[in-house]
Amino acid sequence: MARNIAPKCKQCRREGVKLFLKGDRCLTPKCAMVKRNFPPGAHGGKGYPRSTAYGLELREKQKAKKIYRLLETQFANYFTKASKSKGNTEEVLFQLLEMRLDNVVYRAGFAKSRDLARQLIGHKHFLVNDKRVNIPSFSAKVGQIISLRAKSQNLKVFSDLKEQIKKTEPSSWLSITPDKLEIKIVDKPKLAGLKEFNPKLIVEFYSK
Ligand code: SF4
Repeated sequence: MARNIAPKCKQCRREGVKLFLKGDRCLTPKCAMVKRNFPPGAHGGKGYPRSTAYGLELREKQKAKKIYRLLETQFANYFTKASKSKGNTEEVLFQLLEMRLDNVVYRAGFAKSRDLARQLIGHKHFLVNDKRVNIPSFSAKVGQIISLRAKSQNLKVFSDLKEQIKKTEPSSWLSITPDKLEIKIVDKPKLAGLKEFNPKLIVEFYSK
């Protein structure tokens, strides 16, 4: 499936915020947002330009799209689905994005970035309710249990996973059992406390 392969740090610099696309590196002084906090390109040194209302809405949509590692059509499809639902479009959009299996694995601390989560899922390392699922966009449901396949647990890529999970603060709608390497979805994600992007501006962008 097509995916976003643009240089990750440039994507953060374009949006002017850390999008945390590179795992541990994002927390170090090597982060490009620490070293070069200005837009990429020949005129980037002039800093971030002032934006119109439309520009702000566009950037918010672009930011969310990059955070969840989606392409334009994929993101627009989530918006269409949210807008056709009976619930609050902003909240449903957020829930659809958050409940993607790659995001759940990342939020639970089982992968250091969404790209890595996507790769691990594609390699069939995860089970949903004991059934193998290798589709990163799989939409998880409340009550489902996501676990690391027993055969995968001894692989080098997961060697420090239990320690990594213990150090991660998972989202409040997830319950983690580190010893069993299990994630349970206990609730739907709530908009309250969302700081990474503003879904209201995204809804306004698509409503024009
Ligand atoms: Fe973004 Fe910094 Fe991570 Fe690069 S290292 S992806 S600039 S947060």
